[in-house]
Amino acid sequence: MTKLFRFLTIVAVAALAVSCGDRETRRTDGDSQIMVAAANPHAAEAGMAVLRAGGSAIDAAVAIQTVLGLVEPQSSGPAGGAFLLYYDAASRRVEAYDGREMAPRATRPDHFLGPDGTPRAFADVVAGGQSVGVPGVMAMLEMAHTRHGTLPWSDLFEHAIALAKEGFAVSPRFRFFMDFAPWTQAMPGPQAYFSDENGNLLDAGERLRNPAYADSMRRLAREGAGVMYEGALAEAIVEAVANAPVNPGAMTLEDLAAYRPLERSPLCRPYRDYFVCGMPPPTSGGVVVLQILGLLEGFDLSVMEPGGAAFVHLLSQASRLAYADRDMYLADPDYVAVPAEGLLSPNYLYGRTQLIDVNRDMGRAEAGDPWSDEALPRAPDLTEDVPGTSHFAVVDAAGNAVTMTTTVESVFGSNVMAGGMFLNNQLTDFSFEPQRGGHPVANAPAPGKRPRSSMAPIMVFDAEGELFALVGSAGGSRIPLYVVQAVIALVDWDMTMQEALDLPHFGNRNGATELETGTELEALVPALEALGHPVRTTVMNSGTHGIRIHEGRMDGGADLRREGVVLPE
Ligand code: GLU
Repeated sequence: MTKLFRFLTIVAVAALAVSCGDRETRRTDGDSQIMVAAANPHAAEAGMAVLRAGGSAIDAAVAIQTVLGLVEPQSSGPAGGAFLLYYDAASRRVEAYDGREMAPRATRPDHFLGPDGTPRAFADVVAGGQSVGVPGVMAMLEMAHTRHGTLPWSDLFEHAIALAKEGFAVSPRFRFFMDFAPWTQAMPGPQAYFSDENGNLLDAGERLRNPAYADSMRRLAREGAGVMYEGALAEAIVEAVANAPVNPGAMTLEDLAAYRPLERSPLCRPYRDYFVCGMPPPTSGGVVVLQILGLLEGFDLSVMEPGGAAFVHLLSQASRLAYADRDMYLADPDYVAVPAEGLLSPNYLYGRTQLIDVNRDMGRAEAGDPWSDEALPRAPDLTEDVPGTSHFAVVDAAGNAVTMTTTVESVFGSNVMAGGMFLNNQLTDFSFEPQRGGHPVANAPAPGKRPRSSMAPIMVFDAEGELFALVGSAGGSRIPLYVVQAVIALVDWDMTMQEALDLPHFGNRNGATELETGTELEALVPALEALGHPVRTTVMNSGTHGIRIHEGRMDGGADLRREGVVLPE
């Protein structure tokens, strides 16, 4: 991304965040039996309608996702990927579902290198067919639905079909992104979709219809997720990728047919009197969240001010250490050996904690050595994610729960459309540089590989093993920071979910200590600089949503920085 574009992003998203910040989303209800927290009211209502009809949390997730793909397509959709943690109340089991996109078989390590062998700019490759990964989210949802669905699959698409057919009012955030990125402005498909018959972009509040999306949802409802991978819709995806107006890609029908969602083992670790479960690689999210919590376990955070310099300093040091390891080691475990267990072992974390000086910023952290096999990849991946993600949480009447983070990667993904859907640009989550300093980068592109993610859907259990919280966030590579902050607020400061999500954000991805623009944290700049921190203030457009179950009562939280709601009933 160019510096100018990054600057404009910060200014523009800040303005949008302020306009969204006036809304009242704090709708908690201690006596709720069922609850949905999601980034868009239509999506939350679709999930709630399914729950009311006796649907399970997984049933609701299908309805929420298919509506999000229509009303919030800048963030996620059926042609994207996701990670889902499911809590089964009867068996008290946590299951982790991986619906991450896969690279087509033609993908080579030099996928994003230019003719001169140097990495191409993100802005030059995000749009078009070359960045598109084989979509995973619908196959993943179908897999989870087969095991935990209550209502028939075909009943879960009604809201998406009706809204796509009848139209829905464009939200301010959706409108904002229609002509936000230069590459979106340059892509004829999205621009035609966003415009009225006179070629003018729709305003917020105007009605947008998407008959092609309605048709795709009908097919999905009738025939199952297989329609994404075989048949007319799959052919439309392959054709759109191959004929993209820029960066045509080489995805084949065989690539689509080869996609498989995976069940992985959740990563669970104690934090104080609680137990925190996250998603394992190929996302870095779970490991980073658990590492930061593990690194902070030895400090008494309960006596610290949430917005005080001491806490900001400590968390920034722990996050420096965790991001150094993330950049070095985390990638698709089916392609490279990923030392997730080593990175979370108490001995390793104890050793890393010794690097934290409470009076001085440590500067750029080096990755640790959770094992000592020199043959393993050990060159850092310094790619950065940009926002285009959604998170939602659901609790159903039986106490089953879903926490799911879903993404098309960047704003409107690749900006290529097929069947009314936006195709993801997830392959830009690979390292553009396959090698660094003569060493292979673990997250280099490869055929069939899943790009490393930052998404971090989390579940927290209390000392009795009861489900205590569901949380997760959008926000690119800052996602784990937003999630950690929420977990600490819930556990160490006993906050409600909404209070936790309202806290101003900060963190350190092993560079500058970043403070959220326009918050009281800006007053900490001198104190942090005195501790040696390089500091910058920036927009931190999180999109965190969650549900807490405290002493048998539920309270939910929606991020005021976006358009989300909590629906209790
Ligand atoms: N594609 C990113 C990931 O999977 C998320 C991007 C975002 O949050 O905007 O981690």
